[in-house]
Amino acid sequence: MPNRKQNLVVVGNGMVGHRLLELMVEKGATDRWNLITFCEEPRVAYDRVSLSRYFMDMTAADLTLVEPGFYQANGIQIYMHDRVVEIDRERQLVRSANGVEVAYDRLVLATGSYPFVPPIKGNDAAGTFVYRTIEDLDAIKAYAQQSKVGVVVGGGLLGLECANALKNLGLETHVVEFAPRLMPVQIDDAGGSMLKGKIEELGVKVHTSKVTTEIVSENGKLARMEFADKTSLSTDMIVFSAGIRPRDELARQCGLEMGDRGGIMIDESCQTSDPQVYAIGECALYQGRIFGLVAPGYQMAEVASDHLLEVATAQSFAGADMSTKLKLLGVDVASFGDNFAKTPGSKELAVGDAVAGTYKKLVVSADGKLLLGGILVGDASAYGTLLQLMQNQMPLPENPLSLLVPATAGAAPSMSVDSLPDTAQICSCNNVTKGQICAAIQDDNLTDMPTLKKCTKAGTGCGGCVPLVKDLLQSELKKAGVEVKNHLCEHFAYSRQELYHLLRVGQIKSFDELLAQHGKGHGCEICKPAVGSMLASSWNDHVLNTPHIGLQDTNDAFLANIQKDGTYSVIPRVPGGEITPEKLIVLGQVAQEFDLYTKITGAQRVDLFGARVDQLPLIWRRLVDAGFESGHAYGKALRTVKSCVGSTWCRFGVQDSTSLAIEVELRYRGLRSPHKLKSAVSGCTRECAEAQGKDFGIIATENGWNLYVCGNGGMKPQHAVLLATDIDKETLIKYIDRFLVFYIRTADRLERTSTWFNKLEGGLDYLKQVIIEDSLGIAEELEAQMQYHVDTYQCEWQTTIENPEKMQRFRHFVNADAADPSLCYVQERGQKRPATAAERATLATVQ
Ligand SMILES: Cc1cc2nc3c(=O)[nH]c(=O)nc-3n(C[C@H](O)[C@H](O)[C@H](O)COP(=O)(O)OP(=O)(O)OC[C@H]3O[C@@H](n4cnc5c(N)ncnc54)[C@H](O)[C@@H]3O)c2cc1C
Ligand code: SF4
Repeated sequence: MPNRKQNLVVVGNGMVGHRLLELMVEKGATDRWNLITFCEEPRVAYDRVSLSRYFMDMTAADLTLVEPGFYQANGIQIYMHDRVVEIDRERQLVRSANGVEVAYDRLVLATGSYPFVPPIKGNDAAGTFVYRTIEDLDAIKAYAQQSKVGVVVGGGLLGLECANALKNLGLETHVVEFAPRLMPVQIDDAGGSMLKGKIEELGVKVHTSKVTTEIVSENGKLARMEFADKTSLSTDMIVFSAGIRPRDELARQCGLEMGDRGGIMIDESCQTSDPQVYAIGECALYQGRIFGLVAPGYQMAEVASDHLLEVATAQSFAGADMSTKLKLLGVDVASFGDNFAKTPGSKELAVGDAVAGTYKKLVVSADGKLLLGGILVGDASAYGTLLQLMQNQMPLPENPLSLLVPATAGAAPSMSVDSLPDTAQICSCNNVTKGQICAAIQDDNLTDMPTLKKCTKAGTGCGGCVPLVKDLLQSELKKAGVEVKNHLCEHFAYSRQELYHLLRVGQIKSFDELLAQHGKGHGCEICKPAVGSMLASSWNDHVLNTPHIGLQDTNDAFLANIQKDGTYSVIPRVPGGEITPEKLIVLGQVAQEFDLYTKITGAQRVDLFGARVDQLPLIWRRLVDAGFESGHAYGKALRTVKSCVGSTWCRFGVQDSTSLAIEVELRYRGLRSPHKLKSAVSGCTRECAEAQGKDFGIIATENGWNLYVCGNGGMKPQHAVLLATDIDKETLIKYIDRFLVFYIRTADRLERTSTWFNKLEGGLDYLKQVIIEDSLGIAEELEAQMQYHVDTYQCEWQTTIENPEKMQRFRHFVNADAADPSLCYVQERGQKRPATAAERATLATVQ
């Protein structure tokens, strides 16, 4: 090589192009190379994998992958907002749209890919978008403000992510998929139908096997999509997310070898047909395959940098593992290895649970000893363990099903992080092994996840390995005798309990204040609702007040429960389950007037289903006028206090359970907590109100009341424990006050009282000491906090309909000009219910 510095030109400053530059710097290339890059976008490389967080909790600056001053400090020349338009291979130079000409000794193409827009008539109409860059998202957001309905074309990974974004922008959202199931590349028919069901439950409408024939605009505005089966779907905007195509136009122009269907052909050194030119990332085609994930791109950057620097132990690219774990619209989905059992002789084991909405499949070798791949829908908590078992070819337990349904084998999946070899690859996005993570923890005395992630890069890609990295951290810290931290999330280096304390001591009244004083960044979907709940339980401020509205989940944001067809259900409070005939008549009238399906709930209330957002304020005005209050069925809050008729009517009753239930429910109504709270009062030990299956339950005795706590029904039923016996009503209320506030202050986010109790060191004895004996000396404070709650209670719906500012949220929908055409009902047993997919097809209402 000549003595002068060589020019390395990198075309494309995306995730992979930037990673290559980082590696070149890390490997000491700047002594021998001038590093030059062209960046077509108006900003330097950013985390495209986390693009959707731009709609949630991150700014463009937060998403950047470039450390401030990195390019300047390392002498890297970057041409911003400039696209390379020509490569002259003979003279070894590139030309840009801005007229820059740069000679190269080696050229790397890292031009990524572009979203494929199917060739459908009308696909370029105003109101059509793609989902790839920050500018795309800005455009979508702006257009969504004038839209009510949005359609995503494509039900793959990115399509569902995009659907989530549209839903969060407040649009009625549809996904139109050409294939007969969602995520056809990653999951099978059974998994696809489970995923479809779960996604529809969340209010996104999924249309599979739909071939779009035309996109029709009327009066210059998008009107509808028409399908080959003669149905159509009205929409205001469309986002195409139907796959990607490599950005290979430059390579084509300069005559590099291309794949038949595009993509720049590379060998195992990432060199193209011209040895001076490399291609990496999503523009590169290796053995006929484009890799649409970031991890393979990063591997290519590693290989290319080794090769450029003539590293003796240079790695080769040999394809990549396409295992993925994602949370799509809040539903866990994972697929890994040979997910479709293509290996000859391989066998499949699958477990579906329609009630829990989970589907899990394992593909094992012919002899049943090794795991080859699998699919997880609805619950992907075993993904990390299963991936490690597969990648490290570890022997499977005798009954591999025990990995999917641990309870049947009486134990959790039979692999701890300690059993993994040091060479086990934990983070496949960034190729980080267990050995590297453990070494970082030990050598740099790391004790928290954010620092560990920063130091090792593990968990900073798709995030699928984060639980395993956490397990490794906890295991290493435990071995070193270090206390394990339980931080709320990366924005707050405190546990929920610590944060609650800080919030109260500092009299902090808003998320922004808390973040400014005790956190960093902008918050996320973990800390925002958690802090929203803490603020509400502490200060009892209305959840729709301006500083709090952005913290709320969908149900809280509309003070109603979203249902599978995107409508809402309304549950007014019926304290103790006691209701007058007059009020029952009002419920019936409201249901008739707004055409709502009615059902008595298990908690002795009436649930009114099928209300559109625009109907909610109108319904509530009627209900509030008739003396009803919000029942908080939408919140992590006190739900109901169920009761039997007790001594008033029942010949076995020994106390007036109904009056007590009403008093208790009115005392704790509206109380926000880490999870929902349920209660019941029974008039004698026959226990007709099932008080021992509640977070706090009361059973009458001859001498007073027995108080039970920390029980629950649901997926993992747990019997409550007896906290106090034969107490009078004043003592009972005092203990419940203390118990509830103690739980609210000390539980983790989304932790039911039963789980909280199971983790409580000292168990029932300790709880009795705190609540009854006041061993911590905080009883008075706990009671005072509860009294504050009782004194400041307001009905959230009454306040909302009386407040024009709060009504603004609904005004957007109030008097919506037309009923949602995609809602489709049939009559059953004298009431309406949502039509099934088959019924919809018959009725052909998707018009
Ligand atoms: C919404 C979304 C979610 C995703 N989620 C995941 C995920 O969960 N997991 C995962 O592994 N992957 C995910 N991906 C895919 C991942 O982002 C890509 O694999 C990764 O960005 C590929 O990196 P790249 O550098 O090859 O391409 P890009 O990041 O697209 O970068 C290419 C850059 O080159 C520029 N360029 C192109 N031509 C020229 C030219 N002639 N001159 C100058 N510049 C040029 C482009 O403008 C672009 O900035 C997601 C992608 C999207 C859009
Ligand atoms: S719990 Fe006792 S008092 Fe209540 S209804 Fe049943 S038998 Fe009657």
